[in-house]
Amino acid sequence: MKTPTEPVATPLPGNRAAVLPLIGGPLCLNFTNTAHGRGTEGHTDNLVDYAALVAWSKHADAIAAGEVERLLATGARHPRAAEAVRRRAAELRERLHRCFLALGRGAKPDPRDLDGINQELAAALPHARLTPEAGGLAWSWDDEPALDRVLWPVVRSATQLLTAPELPRVKQCAGRGCSWLFLDTSKNGSRRWCEMEVCGSRAKARAYYARRKAGAHER
Ligand SMILES: [Zn+2]
Repeated sequence: MKTPTEPVATPLPGNRAAVLPLIGGPLCLNFTNTAHGRGTEGHTDNLVDYAALVAWSKHADAIAAGEVERLLATGARHPRAAEAVRRRAAELRERLHRCFLALGRGAKPDPRDLDGINQELAAALPHARLTPEAGGLAWSWDDEPALDRVLWPVVRSATQLLTAPELPRVKQCAGRGCSWLFLDTSKNGSRRWCEMEVCGSRAKARAYYARRKAGAHER
């Protein structure tokens, strides 16, 4: 799924980050799905630069549309700081991915991953606010024009899911070379694929041809 002709620094809307299917459920799982094919030759990271990170954040409703321009402008003025945030984002993403996989196996997450996630939590929390909303209060963020504000909602979503009773329903797609995560909300917990039309039908086609080949050998 690599598109090598894509200009790397193009902001909205030329980057694939802004069109990735949001099939994971919670924001933090969709965030882990900004890369795919972990551990395979097809490993692809769609967060190619800070603009791609902002584009995805807008696409996933992690930030308001009105924040995009300001973040891109600040990022353009401070390219090194913006790149540092992109690196932190990619690191956080992989830490979350490993953490969810470990917990899914019933294992403890790597303490280094937990430390890294906790560091991002500590960076995000001072910006958290409660604001009045119709019928009560809502969790929101202060207005600081920080480049890393794109990470705050992801961290919040991750801390929610990592401590939620539905954690065992976080699954990795069974598709070869996929590695996307999703929250299985099916009644009987039988979901296997990120998208049936993508990984599900590919696996079915592979199984079909394997059966045909096996049949040919028998003959
Ligand atoms: Zn998949």
